[in-house]
Amino acid sequence: MNYDFIIDNGNIQKMVSYYHNYLEDTNDSRILYSFKSPDFKIIIYNTKKVLFQGKKNYDEYAKWAKVFGFEIIKQVDFSTYINEYASQRIIGSDEVGTGDFFGPVVVCAAFVTPSDKDLITELKVRDSKDLSDNQIIDIAKRLIEEFSYHVLVLPNEKYNSLISKGYNMNKIKAFLHNHAIKKMVEKHSDYQNIIIDEFCSPENYYKYLDGEKKIDNTKFHTKGESVHPAVAVASIIARYKFLLEMDKLSEKINIILPKGAGAPVDAVGKVIYLKNGKEIFNGIAKTHFKNFDRITK
Ligand code: MN
Repeated sequence: MNYDFIIDNGNIQKMVSYYHNYLEDTNDSRILYSFKSPDFKIIIYNTKKVLFQGKKNYDEYAKWAKVFGFEIIKQVDFSTYINEYASQRIIGSDEVGTGDFFGPVVVCAAFVTPSDKDLITELKVRDSKDLSDNQIIDIAKRLIEEFSYHVLVLPNEKYNSLISKGYNMNKIKAFLHNHAIKKMVEKHSDYQNIIIDEFCSPENYYKYLDGEKKIDNTKFHTKGESVHPAVAVASIIARYKFLLEMDKLSEKINIILPKGAGAPVDAVGKVIYLKNGKEIFNGIAKTHFKNFDRITK
């Protein structure tokens, strides 16, 4: 995994004097400096972005992040996940998009076994909330090649129609998790446990699924992403899929849709509303969010 941050000119000079022995020539006009050793490659771009690559890139990244006072991204390996599940074949399930006004809800279930240990460590799989969008994209591209998973996208039209029929968000999540998990159980009947990143009590989860064909030995864990890498893998793939869907929606309405539910969302929402009216939101946003009232009042 690559690490990066953005620094000012003064700090660029500090790095240049530290690494000057490793300076290499480059013809790339986007690059200010490039440093290369057997252990790392560090590129400083015109944009003042510093990119750390190579097998010991984390050491260099962490050293400078500390010097410059940046919050250091934790390095995680499989040992982070040593617990009762570590020696088991696990289906993990997680969802994203539920706190975002724009865009779908995405749920993913993934299958991870002890033999994936090295890959989990190599890809530095961890809680998707600790990763930037670019890191998610980098890691997810590998994960979707290497792991078995099932991902479900609930488009905004469908989501809004379920809400108007009286479904609450947690019931919607329960249905999606259950469906993705069932698909994975069909594919991997040798699984030993199922872990869901807990979003409601197990009692409510099963109540929501009343009358459905359901898998009933599921384990619920808050911060499930740090309990087993299967949940972390699922969350990264789900977030990646969400980012792709956001790109598609942004392209469709020709404006970049912000994530989350904060002030930028209201500001962009207002622009969309003034240009297109109310109806368009049914296909791009979760219209029961308070953002919708603020945008359309
Ligand atoms: Mn989660």
